[in-house]
Amino acid sequence: MSVDVMTRPAVLILLGPPGAGKGTQARMLQDKFGLVQLSTGDLLRAAVAAGTPAGKQAKAVMEAGGLVSDDIVIAILNDRIAEQDCRNGVILDGFPRTTVQAKALDELLASTGQRINAAISLQVDDSAMVERISGRSTCAGCGEGYHDTFKPPKDGNSCQKCGSTELTRRADDTAETVAGRLEAYHAQTAPLISYYDAAGVLQSVDAMAEIDQVAGEMATVVKSVMN
Ligand code: AMP
Repeated sequence: MSVDVMTRPAVLILLGPPGAGKGTQARMLQDKFGLVQLSTGDLLRAAVAAGTPAGKQAKAVMEAGGLVSDDIVIAILNDRIAEQDCRNGVILDGFPRTTVQAKALDELLASTGQRINAAISLQVDDSAMVERISGRSTCAGCGEGYHDTFKPPKDGNSCQKCGSTELTRRADDTAETVAGRLEAYHAQTAPLISYYDAAGVLQSVDAMAEIDQVAGEMATVVKSVMN
């Protein structure tokens, strides 16, 4: 199906190492612009929890902080992006992570007459990522993200969005896996910054600032690239 140029859905990509704030910023952009956050990490965690064949294959790699095979991730992303709720546009959080994935995305978008509005690089210092990653938690009820130091739940232990008292920590959010995850990022994902620069869609944001300040900068970028 081809999508009219004036009405085609927005496609935003968030690039950055683990801990850069992609998930937090994607959720804020989702609320602000009515786009859907597509996190391949969330989709893979759901597949692991459901015990699907893809989840079974992905589990050990994820726990070790490596990258799940391109075939699995591309298939999961293709299925999800075809769903109805993505028709107004998507924010890709954690995808693509390799050049193979980036090319698969280009092909998918070309086949539906869509294009990438922006690939936004969240720029951070690696040295700050261990503290950011080891303190984070997620609400089991609504997926809102928290951090022990930078964004604690206001009343201590319940989600301020949905009220759930179940805040969970990811199995791979440990100081031990962070080094491997950063290494995977620099070896396999960081080259995408040049890839999208060459495609003319790269934007960069200083993501070392406070969450709300980064969100303000992100919103300015997004407004400037929407049709
Ligand atoms: P995230 O929630 O984005 O930090 O992803 C958690 C883990 O899921 C990563 O460390 C990888 O093992 C896996 N993963 C998520 N997205 C991808 C992707 N696009 N390609 C390969 N592996 C991925």
